[in-house]
Amino acid sequence: MRKLAVVMLTLLLLILVVLPAKEIRDTIERPLYSADVIFDPAQRSLSAKLNYKLPPGDYEQIVFTVYANAYEQGINGIFVFPQFKERVFYQGESLGSVAVSDVRVNGVLADFVLVGTALTIMPRSNVLSNRPVEVTMDYTVTVPKISHRNGSNKDAVWAGNWLPLLAVREGQTWLTYPYYPAGDPFHNQVADFTINIEVPPGYTLVGPGVLHKTNSTFTVVAKNIREFAIAIGPAYTQAVRTSRQGVELSFYTYNAPPNTVNSLLDELEDMIDYFTAEVGPYSYPSLRFVQTGWFLGGMEYPGVVLLSDATLQNYYSVRSTMLHELAHQWFYAIIGNNQVTDSWIDEGLATFFQQRYLQGSELDSHYAKERMALAPLLKTHPDVRLGQSLDIYTDWSHYYRVNYRRSSLMQYDLFKLMGADKYRLFTQSLYAEYKDSELDKNGLIRLASEAYGQNLESWFYPWFND
Ligand SMILES: [Zn+2]
Repeated sequence: MRKLAVVMLTLLLLILVVLPAKEIRDTIERPLYSADVIFDPAQRSLSAKLNYKLPPGDYEQIVFTVYANAYEQGINGIFVFPQFKERVFYQGESLGSVAVSDVRVNGVLADFVLVGTALTIMPRSNVLSNRPVEVTMDYTVTVPKISHRNGSNKDAVWAGNWLPLLAVREGQTWLTYPYYPAGDPFHNQVADFTINIEVPPGYTLVGPGVLHKTNSTFTVVAKNIREFAIAIGPAYTQAVRTSRQGVELSFYTYNAPPNTVNSLLDELEDMIDYFTAEVGPYSYPSLRFVQTGWFLGGMEYPGVVLLSDATLQNYYSVRSTMLHELAHQWFYAIIGNNQVTDSWIDEGLATFFQQRYLQGSELDSHYAKERMALAPLLKTHPDVRLGQSLDIYTDWSHYYRVNYRRSSLMQYDLFKLMGADKYRLFTQSLYAEYKDSELDKNGLIRLASEAYGQNLESWFYPWFND
């Protein structure tokens, strides 16, 4: 009996341990990021042991984007337009930093170089192209005392750009970009994350996905997301509820009126119903809005939205911002796009859906006024074509008028051309085909044409060429 029990136990262990391990090893489809991180509030630093499992492929080089490295330039950095420097650096000059060491590929030390926002790793030994690849490194990022996507104030430290993310590869080319001051200059594909972050006692951590706390360590498990934003602070109050669709909805604030937060949660449920009906279901287990010192209204990440201090003080402003950033959960997070070359896609769709919801029956008169107001403004800019890369914009107004306002006007005109039913078919088909993937111009035109029942290439042409 005893021997039989040992055999049975061994078999069970084989099934439980070896088989799933082999399955993960051989069938990984998207990158798996895991990390053990320690947060030090005095230094505003995150020190991490990072582990990346990458799907099989040809890896002569492996490139990660490290946007946090752009902050080492401080006030001389290019990541913010001169017009905004006073607001971003209101606490004075403050530098961020990044330190990378002990980079290994499949356990073997690798050469690497960090230049600007690109970390290029060169394995010293051959990497088998039919096996998942493991990259590990020691990594420390320091968050500056500024009001940007990485930043801090007396109440919190937040970071949208803290973690190195695998660059997107087109053929043999790894796509990396500078930290342009216009737009959200990022392009990421989805990955799965399991991240442990140790914080001092009494501190709260906000992140995406499913959050668990054990002693002072938060474990964040998030699947199918393209960026991993966090906020940490000792003063956060959480207001939470479960939506009708079973999504955990919450606000983390350090000085917002409680009535504001409760009303926002009420409205958030209705807004999610609206997007679910028009586009498709919200696909993450949670959505967390978090107060930060970010300087421009709201900043969207998958399952996490940074809200600015100022926005939260005015109900109508925060309601409108919440709606816009919620729209980005569908247009940017769930349905992705290259935000460097095609920011018109997510900003145009998010702005149009925001206005449809806010304006209701006034939508037509809103866009009639908008068309009149925008025309003379666009004449002041040399290039107002949709689909231009972020590097052409020399100030925020130029970027905003083209990619938010002109692009949303295009969506409105498309909506009027197609009618609400066919437009809904169109946005639902974007979701069906591009969920957890990346939409581009050709895909958008093709699916609009299919939903309309007629080729729309010539209809779209002027928006991209005039
Ligand atoms: Zn936006």
